[in-house]
Amino acid sequence: AARPLLGPAEIRALAEQLGIRPTKTLGQNFVIDPNTIRRIIAAARLGAGETVLEVGPGLGSLTLGLLDAAEQVVAVEIDPPLAEQLPRTAERFRPERADRLTVIEQDALRVQELPAAPSALVANLPYNVAVPVLLHLLGRFPSLRHGLVMVQEEVADRLAAAPGSKVYGVPSVKASWYAEVTKAGTIGKNVFWPAPKIASGLVRFVRRDEPVAAVDRDLVFAAVDAAFAQRRKTLRAALAGWAGSAAAAGEILEAAGIDPGERGEKLDVHQFARIAQAGAAAGL
Ligand code: SAM
Repeated sequence: AARPLLGPAEIRALAEQLGIRPTKTLGQNFVIDPNTIRRIIAAARLGAGETVLEVGPGLGSLTLGLLDAAEQVVAVEIDPPLAEQLPRTAERFRPERADRLTVIEQDALRVQELPAAPSALVANLPYNVAVPVLLHLLGRFPSLRHGLVMVQEEVADRLAAAPGSKVYGVPSVKASWYAEVTKAGTIGKNVFWPAPKIASGLVRFVRRDEPVAAVDRDLVFAAVDAAFAQRRKTLRAALAGWAGSAAAAGEILEAAGIDPGERGEKLDVHQFARIAQAGAAAGL
């Protein structure tokens, strides 16, 4: 049977009881709509026996849904009163499942160890750090096989963008180093309290079975950063700093089979990996 989720009345009561006022700096917009939680859970496509990592559980809207759908939930929350309250909320609304929840009071950007290897990431991410958190977790926890995150809609578009698209950029390439990324829907503002100024998007990712290439990730990412730092420049010019000089960049690009007159926004992650491989062969 479907278990009750937190609606506007419960969320407000919890916030009042804790004496908290949602803060913008921590991206605190709490979901007050059970249907949105059900949508997120369905889009996450959790299998049997999953250990789900949730970042920013807040007052627990999504956490309760995850407790119903997962074997274990590890929730990382930076705000102490919220982290302290969450186990009590789980006890109150999911007494028979509360022991599946582990709460860690920490900045998700700094998490290095978790009590269990997470198989999935399901989160309504704090908007101001959504991309760095996602990339950090994908890099740090290879056990994360798939996930569904809610982010600002423009960030969702950017993460899922293909080469040549206007919004294709650093987040698109770096995310696709790890995973296949797709946009899985749009969420209106009114499902949150307080309502944010802009709509949200759902992003689904599935980790690649095979790495893109056998090459140092940091060398690839440095080339990506350089290519997009000067978006309007040719790769030969934009990668001059990365390669040591424009001439060296030109040679590396030629060796990688990529036109030095091309722009970075046209290249996919495989092409960036080839550039890094050629750079490594040239001694970078
Ligand atoms: N999951 C809840 C929901 O859907 O109602 C809350 C989502 S709210 C958009 C983002 C949450 O992330 C807040 O609870 C905030 O305190 C927390 N947060 C912000 N920055 C964080 C960070 N660096 N690490 C962990 N949690 C963070």
